[in-house]
Amino acid sequence: MLGITRVNTVDWGEKMNRIQKKVIHSGLVMHHLETGTKGPKLVITANIHGDECIGFAVVVSLLERLPSLLKKGEVVLYPSLNPTGLRRMMRTYPEDGQDLNRLFPGDSQGSASQRHVHTIWSSIENYKPDLLFDLHTDSPLSIPYVILDRKISTTVSNTVLEEMEHLARHSGLTIVWEYRTPDYRRYKLEKSLSGTALNRLGIPSLTLEVGPRRFMDRDSITIATEAVLSMMSARGMLNEEYQSSHQPVEGIWYRGNGPVTHHAGVFVASVCAGDRVERNQLLGKVYSSTGVELEEIRSHFPALVLSLPAQCWVRELQSCSTLALEVRPEP
Ligand SMILES: [Zn+2]
Repeated sequence: MLGITRVNTVDWGEKMNRIQKKVIHSGLVMHHLETGTKGPKLVITANIHGDECIGFAVVVSLLERLPSLLKKGEVVLYPSLNPTGLRRMMRTYPEDGQDLNRLFPGDSQGSASQRHVHTIWSSIENYKPDLLFDLHTDSPLSIPYVILDRKISTTVSNTVLEEMEHLARHSGLTIVWEYRTPDYRRYKLEKSLSGTALNRLGIPSLTLEVGPRRFMDRDSITIATEAVLSMMSARGMLNEEYQSSHQPVEGIWYRGNGPVTHHAGVFVASVCAGDRVERNQLLGKVYSSTGVELEEIRSHFPALVLSLPAQCWVRELQSCSTLALEVRPEP
């Protein structure tokens, strides 16, 4: 089912920027904004994890602002890639409980999740984008960061990786390259939306991790919206210069595994998101519910703390933090 409704028309000078809303299938909607002037074709996606709603607010803010701001090229925006997950505040796809962001490019004959992903991917692939931003959130105890996917396909040129880094520098967010390849594959990240866009389409593809799950945090919406506008401005797409006022943690970082717990219990952190830690530095302790210390959690390497768990009760073998390494890991 494909229905097209014109939602908004803005007239500025000679140019007319129109937003068209297309219903792709039940609940899945894309908004298309074009200038008629040659330029990048950008896809902005949000809320593939149904409980991560900051990106939804960023998209609706952009839908208000872009008609008068967009100078060249075109943009397609998806406010929610997981509308049923959004309604139920679930990370996964409610119909079968799978993580949609580990199933790309999907399968038209597969499970409910695989079919849904196939629909999303077909819609994006048919559009033939030049650039993709996927909006996510992490923990309430996290700093805003942008993840650059790992090249695992030989068809991805170094120019594309340089372009990703260039854009990320304009985002105002702390720059984090993805896990080393064995972990990247183990976590099925090449089957994430951004991983698939980079490795199958060969286009610059960035994942923004800004703000907490479940909450509409105003500051996070502003930081993520500014990040998107600043990156669009860096590609010359806007009729105003934008530069995010957010200050990233300087340097180039690499996503690494934080240490895991060996006991279930209450995790009391000794550090904050944004702290730099030395090798063997205490990150926190796990206590039993009666207040008995069960273990100390220490960093295995010098790192930047990107985030700490959203909930104080941790399970056995749960990662206690997302850390970023300062040194490039083995490929
Ligand atoms: Zn997410």
